[in-house]
Amino acid sequence: MTGKKERNKERREKRLQEISLLRTIPYSDNQRWWSQETVAVVTGANRGIGFEIARQLAGHGLTVILTSRDISVGIEAAKVIQDLGFIVDVHQLDILDSESISAFVDWIRQKYGGVDILVNSAGVNYNLGYDNSVEFSRQVIETNYYGTKNMTKAMIPVMRSSAVGARIVNVSSRLGRLNGRRNRIQDANLREKLTNLETLSEELIDRTVSSFLQQVEDETWQSGGWPQTFTDYSVSKLAVNAYTRLLTKELSRQSQGEKIYVNCYCPGWVKTAMTGWQGNISPDVAADTGVWLALLLDPAITGKFFAERREINF
Ligand code: NDP
Repeated sequence: MTGKKERNKERREKRLQEISLLRTIPYSDNQRWWSQETVAVVTGANRGIGFEIARQLAGHGLTVILTSRDISVGIEAAKVIQDLGFIVDVHQLDILDSESISAFVDWIRQKYGGVDILVNSAGVNYNLGYDNSVEFSRQVIETNYYGTKNMTKAMIPVMRSSAVGARIVNVSSRLGRLNGRRNRIQDANLREKLTNLETLSEELIDRTVSSFLQQVEDETWQSGGWPQTFTDYSVSKLAVNAYTRLLTKELSRQSQGEKIYVNCYCPGWVKTAMTGWQGNISPDVAADTGVWLALLLDPAITGKFFAERREINF
């Protein structure tokens, strides 16, 4: 291992140790704004990071709605959390299916009246290791970007007004960083437009992912200046990150008491089905920043990107 890699590894391990210490500190009464009436919805919660986020939020005493596209798998997963003595309800949800989303929103409105926290964890990636196939790029973009966006749009009307604000947390990835040193879009002009809140728009994000998908269809994507690692996945998460910032801008007009805070985070490289159980951290550790963001009592934290409880640049 090179000196730089070694140092990065040491830094990461040190930060993970710090986080495991932070996790042992209980929330004080001042920080604990939630109760068992607080409702948190987690997408893709039947396994992996989504399941862990659901388990940890339930462990903090909230009511968690574990959603799963296969209801029987969701019921089994919810049972694991219920057996710990926590409050978990379960519902079918496929974020690619608009009927499934609207059936879910109707159910939540009727049964709970509203939602305080939405964690978008559902996602797909079909590449492993050094592979970079774009065979499933449409599925990847549709699920990770459009699915997350459609779910979020459908949920905003049922996000509850409260003094502390509602929260949306998107599970994203550093691979989707716009201005990272590696793996970024080569077109500086496009990067600038996606970075600048004045020029960032939903139409621009949609146009960017469509242009990538068109190039995949035309078989010209390899010279298109797209991120080089897990290209389709990176483009999808770049879009999620950009949408997170855009949403914050759109939601900033809401008055006090109706605020919704929206952030995204990178869980790290995690031992789940998505990585073929590779990765260097467990889903339990990977869930931490998502849970921390969902429970954080700081109105200044919105439209931001985190990793290991620290803000990073988009
Ligand atoms: P898993 O593959 O373990 O879990 C993915 C979850 O998403 C599953 O519950 C899956 O359901 C669900 N899902 C997929 N498509 C849909 C859909 N259309 N509707 C509803 N649910 C769906 O992966 P992870 O837990 O690792 O990934 C969770 C999130 O973390 C993803 O957004 C991923 O991109 C992100 N992430 C993961 C990293 C890692 O190293 N693992 C790194 C960076 C980000 P089903 O069981 O039915 O397939």
